[in-house]
Order: sequence, then C-alpha cells, then structure tokens
Amino acid sequence: MASLSTTSGTTAFGADIKDLTRIERIGAHSHIHGLGLDEQLEPKASAQGMVGQLKARKAAGVILRMIKAGKIAGRSILMAGAPGTGKTAIAMGMAQELGTDVPFTMLASSEIFSMEISKTEALTQAFRRSIGIRIKEETELIEGEVVEIQVDRSVTGTGSKTGKLTLKTTDMETIYDLGTKMIDALNKEKVAAGDVITIDKSTGRITKLGRSHLYARDYDATGAETTFVKCPEGELQKRREVVHTVSLHEIDVINSRTQGFLALFSGDTGEIKPEVRDQINQKVTEWREEGKADIVPGVLFIDEVHMLDIECFSFLNRALEDDFAPVVIMASNRGHARIRGTNYRSPHGVPIDLLDRVLIISTSPYNEDEIRQILRIRCDEEDVAITEEAHELLTRIGGDASLRYAMQLITAANLVARKRKSDKVDTVDVQRVYNLFLDEKRSIQYVREHQDEFMFNEITPTEGAGA
Ligand code: ATP
Repeated sequence: MASLSTTSGTTAFGADIKDLTRIERIGAHSHIHGLGLDEQLEPKASAQGMVGQLKARKAAGVILRMIKAGKIAGRSILMAGAPGTGKTAIAMGMAQELGTDVPFTMLASSEIFSMEISKTEALTQAFRRSIGIRIKEETELIEGEVVEIQVDRSVTGTGSKTGKLTLKTTDMETIYDLGTKMIDALNKEKVAAGDVITIDKSTGRITKLGRSHLYARDYDATGAETTFVKCPEGELQKRREVVHTVSLHEIDVINSRTQGFLALFSGDTGEIKPEVRDQINQKVTEWREEGKADIVPGVLFIDEVHMLDIECFSFLNRALEDDFAPVVIMASNRGHARIRGTNYRSPHGVPIDLLDRVLIISTSPYNEDEIRQILRIRCDEEDVAITEEAHELLTRIGGDASLRYAMQLITAANLVARKRKSDKVDTVDVQRVYNLFLDEKRSIQYVREHQDEFMFNEITPTEGAGA
C-alpha cells in the first residue's frame, strides 16, 4: 500500500541510507533482530536472535540509549574480541534497534583501498552518510479545509491519482488515519481521480461528493508517494510540522554535481570539494539555529579496523572532533598487531592515541550451551530441520573448530540430507560435510604435513614483524 507521507517532493532525498545493512540482513546475520535487552537494558539470555555475550550487549545498549538521546556525537567505540564472537552481530543488533530515522553506515576497512577516490575522501563520505539532518517544515491545517491526497500508482502502471479529504478535525492522528483509509480507497479504485470525497470519522465510510475542477496538479515524478496539499482558504487554527531526514552526504552530492541527486543512484559521486562541504555545514548550522533542522548523529560501523593505515587513523583522530561527527564503532579481532603503514605494533592494530579516546567493549568466546542455542537459531532461520543427535554433533564441532564453521555446515548438511531423500539433517549428513570441508585447524594441519609440495613457502621480513 502507498504510505502516507506529509512531505512533498522529497523522496529523491530519501534514498535509503541503510543499504549495506539490508544486504547483511539476508546473510550471516539475518537472524539478528535487535540486542535482546529489556527496558532496564538488562540482556535476556536469548532474545531477538541474540544469545549470550551479556556484558557486551548491555554495553552496546547503553551506547544505543545515548545515541538515541543524541548525546554522544563524535564518540568512538572499539569492539575487540576473537573472530566469530559476535562483534558484527552486536553492531547489526544496534542498527536494528536504531530504526530507520537514524543513519547507520557499515564500512569494511579494506573497501576504502579499492575505491576510485582517495582514502580520506572515502572516510569523509562514510562519516557524512552517517549524519542525518532532520529538516522541519511548517505548514498549517485548519478545520473544514480540503486536503488533497496524491497516490503514486506508477508502479502498477496506472499513473497517479488524486483524492480530496475534507477535514472535520485538526487532530493529526485522526487526519493520518483518515488519510490512510483514503489511500486504501484510491488503491482499490473505489475513487477516481478528480472525485471529491469525505470520510466519515467513526465508520471510515467514503462518500463521493461529485467531481471537482478546483485542482489540476501536475504529477511530480520526484514527489513523495502520497502528498497532502493545503488549500489556501480558511482561518488558521493549527500548525503542523512536516519532517524529513536526509544524510549530510546526500546534501553534499545534490549540491556538488550538475546532475544533482541522480549521482546518488549511480554511486558515482566522485570527490566532493571541501568548499561545498563548508557551505553546507554553514547552511545546516543556520537551519539549526533558526530551529528549521536538527542534526541526528548516526552510527558509522568500521569493520576490520586494523586494516586501516596510519594516515586513516590520524584522519579519524581529527574527524572525530568535528561538529558533525557520528558515533564511530570499530571492530577488530587482532591482538597485538602491526599498525598498517608503520613498523610499530599496537593492541588491536590501532594506534594508542586513537585507542586512548575510544570506549572498548570486549567480546568473549562462547560456551557450549551458547553455541548450541546459536546453531538452533540458525537452523530455524535457514529452515533446516535437524535431529537432536546431529544438533549435538554440530555443537561439538562449533566448540572444537569454530562457531562460524559449524554454521556453514548447516546448509551443506541439509543439501546432503535432501540428496538421500530425507527432510531432516542427521549425524551422517553432518559427518559427510565435515569430511568434505576442512575447518581452519585441519587445514593448517594439512598444510604442515604437505608443506614441501606447496609453492612460495618463504616468510618475508614484514610478515615476520607481525603483519
Ligand atoms: P570477525 O572478527 O571474524 O569479523 P565477529 O566477532 O564480527 O567476527 P560475527 O560475524 O558477528 O563475529 O559472528 C559470526 C556469526 O555468528 C555470525 O553469523 C553472527 O550472526 C553469529 N553470532 C555471533 N554472536 C552471536 C550471538 N551472540 N547471538 C547470535 N548469533 C551470533
């Protein structure tokens, strides 16, 4: 159904700033629906797809609450822990809890080395994608006025339609409700374009009042799906606020290119001049002072942060102090490691001056019961039926090899089960795929035993230094 929106002509700005998140959701973390905390931020043992890791989840919940209150712009958090201990899962849980109005951007550090723009430009864009600007527009609604509602039906090929709603109230909730009913009616073709209708508040019944020649609005291709348009006459009684959120990066792009917002869809935004950004910052600050806009600091999640190099780290140090900085959550699975671009080692592969300004949340390895529960959730998520014995075997493999490895065996074992015409995975299927696909430990063992048969066995001095 077309959604009811009180904005006009702004969907071009509304391009989804959670793209990356959505891609992740259909993959490894599709079972995560939040952080699984109660009102007091106490983590439930297993909720919203999250199992265990109680301390880290609670810490993430505290951060989340501060983000929602808009209190910790420019702060950074480091999630540190061994591979597969749920750092990304917790970040995904946070993204889910933030809702759609707070921008959440994910960046894998290695990505910035493969872009056509400079590393610092890529980081700047990621920062500005993670800052939302909530723009407020004021408009007035009065009792008895006629409001147009436009429904964009171009998706179904029937073009746009317009209906009119005569207000019997100025209560926004009622208007919203009636508007939604009217959109329904327009969608079901009960009302034709040009019909003037009223909706009975109590029954929701729609009455046609005849044809209207009062309005002839061009359908605006960039317009919102549904638009309220105020009629000019009438006595002013109530103010209505219309709010839409765009990211700073989107404003940058629209203002830096002749093709405007289309660059957002092609992704070819190129480097954006610092002068353009300065002007935009100034404008946004003015809007904020005039009460026309709020800044919504979102979240930038930088995965594998140890893959950034020293230039990026010093950029981060400075960027975090900017007025328009989001909350930056970094994740690293390294212990003491070399800082890329230097010969220095540092905890987590992150320079100590940056470490000094981050809050560190650590994740710890899972116990057997937690592994069992996570595997159960994953089987449900992947729609795989499994016997108790096979589930136990998988849990043991998860403990001995790794949780990730055990999770990957689920789909493979299911395929093997189907091949032998069973709709339930049994131990034989798990054994079969366990023998077909090596886990990390067995692979290392294999390399050790056969190392003379492999090429390039040499160790370079840089690797020796702990790269
Ligand atoms: P790496 O350092 O290798 O990037 P990571 O700490 O980011 O690892 P994740 O990718 O979050 O690990 O976890 C591995 C898999 O286990 C994912 O599919 C994730 O969704 C799942 N998982 C991890 N922790 C939990 C948890 N506490 N509850 C439910 N699922 C989890």
